[in-house]
Amino acid sequence: MASLSNENFFPFYFSFQEILAVKEGLKPVARTMVKKEQFEQVNSTYNIKNIVSSFNKLGISVFIKNKNADDIVINISKSKELAKCAFELEQKNDFRKIGKLLGFPDCCIDFFVENHKYLFEKKIPFPNQTFINTRGKPIFYTNNILNFESRLDTEGEGKLSKNFHFFSKLLSEYLYLVSHVPCSYNCRKTVKLGRGVLKILKKNNPAYANKIVTTIKKPLIFFDDFNWLFFEGRARNKQLEYTGVLPNRSLVSGQMFEKIKEGNKIEVFDDKMCVLRNGEIIHEINKENKYRGIIIDFQ
Ligand SMILES: [Zn+2]
Repeated sequence: MASLSNENFFPFYFSFQEILAVKEGLKPVARTMVKKEQFEQVNSTYNIKNIVSSFNKLGISVFIKNKNADDIVINISKSKELAKCAFELEQKNDFRKIGKLLGFPDCCIDFFVENHKYLFEKKIPFPNQTFINTRGKPIFYTNNILNFESRLDTEGEGKLSKNFHFFSKLLSEYLYLVSHVPCSYNCRKTVKLGRGVLKILKKNNPAYANKIVTTIKKPLIFFDDFNWLFFEGRARNKQLEYTGVLPNRSLVSGQMFEKIKEGNKIEVFDDKMCVLRNGEIIHEINKENKYRGIIIDFQ
């Protein structure tokens, strides 16, 4: 039996937890897309045949095909037919059927189908809409902030590939439990799926499971898909009291990061954010609009 670790499979851009979810039947198919040049690089370094055979030893088939001139789609599944079928549905843009094959909850598929055009047109990041839909307390299993998969429009994807080197370490850590866009940050079905993924991950690699949970349980401020900050602290409504800011792994500017680090409380308004130190405002940071800069408390 091949040993399972992120390193074995990273060249294919599948997270360890995604592979386990397929292996254990939590998801019929998992999918990823890579740029052609990245794929060729992977092939010359690792030899695709060897990676495919590692998957096969786990009882998982791999389906690889060009989506267009630049992108290659890779699907993995215990069923060869389903892996192929998912690709064919993708070529037809049949989001509902693909979502089902990828094991996404119905409510989240509906959410994606109903919102993606509008959000891409208006350039509103998906997490904002997920947050707006959240009634009550966010639950950490649903935290998808560090997973850009399926929530970026072409402009976002362009921005990501431009900064790929910067994000590659973070992306290779796969710090999330669910790979879809949740309909809310306490979606019941997403919580159930995330809990299932965490359970099998704990069994197979407890240290990694622990690393993920520690990260995704932190409160955060989300500006947009490439700008966010995670905190040590506690959030209440539109206020965040903190003892520390985690190292900045997003495109938030060094200047803004330093300003926030000087404080121990942030109050968020529609048009600005105030950074306070022991009750006194020390910085005011203007917000482009009310969507940019929301506090999400996943604790
Ligand atoms: Zn849902």
